[in-house]
Amino acid sequence: MTKTDKQNCCMEKCVICGKETEYSYDVPINERKYYSEGAGQLCEKCYIKLYVK
Ligand SMILES: [Zn+2]
Repeated sequence: MTKTDKQNCCMEKCVICGKETEYSYDVPINERKYYSEGAGQLCEKCYIKLYVK
């Protein structure tokens, strides 16, 4: 067994600005908002910038 710190280490970060998102790595992609296939996890702001005009 390995000891891992589950506090902050496991949150997905926005691939654009690096901000932590509300989703941890074990949340399935299809249950996340603001996930872009190809790019990765985005935060709300970056997602809106990219996809909403
Ligand atoms: Zn972002």
